[in-house]
Amino acid sequence: MFPIAFPFDHPAWEIAQDALGVSPARDLLAKLVQEWDDDVADNLFYDRLCHQERLFPASFLALPHVVALAETLSGRSLESLALFAGLVVLHAREQPRFGGHSLHESEEWWQSEPFQDVEAVFEKLLPEIGKVCLRAYRKTPYHVVAAGLAACCGHAELGAHLHSESGTYSCPSCKTRHEWELIAGKVAIYPPSPADMRRQNPVLEDYRDGSPIRASIVGLPVEPEHQDATHVRSLLGENVDLTSDALLRNFKCKVGCIVCAWQGPLPARQVLH
Ligand SMILES: [Zn+2]
Repeated sequence: MFPIAFPFDHPAWEIAQDALGVSPARDLLAKLVQEWDDDVADNLFYDRLCHQERLFPASFLALPHVVALAETLSGRSLESLALFAGLVVLHAREQPRFGGHSLHESEEWWQSEPFQDVEAVFEKLLPEIGKVCLRAYRKTPYHVVAAGLAACCGHAELGAHLHSESGTYSCPSCKTRHEWELIAGKVAIYPPSPADMRRQNPVLEDYRDGSPIRASIVGLPVEPEHQDATHVRSLLGENVDLTSDALLRNFKCKVGCIVCAWQGPLPARQVLH
C-alpha cells in the first residue's frame, strides 16, 4: 500500500482546526481506522469535520485516511464514509479557493507551511473519492452520494443541485425569493413561506397529496438532458433512485418568477453561510 498523505505524525495535525477548535480529530480518526464505530464516525464527521456545511483544515487532512479506510469497508460503514467524503468534496467546491462562491472561508490557514500540499492532495484524491461514492451508490442508491460523485467529476453545480430535494433562488431580474421543492419528481415552485407557519402551507399540503397542484410554477426539464447530468447518470448505472433521477432530469430546468416575467434555468444553489 502506498503511503498515506498527512500521516498522523504530520506537523499539520498539531495545528489543524475543526469545528470545535484544535481538537482530537486525529485521535478519533485513528480510532476509526483501528475499528469502525458508528458513533465515533458521526461525531468526527458531522460535529467536527463537516459541520453545517463548513469545512476545516482537519477535514482535508482526514480525506487521505478516509479513502484508505474505504478499501477495508463494506455495507453501512462504507455508505457512511462515502457520504462524508462526497460532502467534503461538494462543500470544498463551494469555496472560492476551489472556484466556488461561498461567502465563508477563512483563507489564512491555506498559506501556512504544514498545509502547503493540501490542494494537490485534494485534487489527486478526487477520482478515488469518486470510486468510493460509486461503490456505495451501487449498493444503496442515494442522491446525496450521487451529489458527491458529481462533485468529484468536476460537476460542482450539478453536485450542489443533487444535494437537496428543496432549495431557494432569487429571481435574477427582480430579486424576488422563491422556494422550490421536489414533489412527485417535479420541481414545484412556491412563493416564500408565510412567517406564520400555522396558516395553511401549500408545500406541506402538496407533499401530503403527492402532487404539486398548489405550486405557482412547475419546472420544465430541458430536452435533451444537460450533458453533466447525462454523464453522472451514465456512471450511476441501471439502478438510479427516484430522487436522483428526478433531480438529474430537472438540472437547469426552466423556471420563472411569480412577480415579473423572467424565465430561465433554475439558478444555482446559493451558499449563504
Ligand atoms: Zn422576477
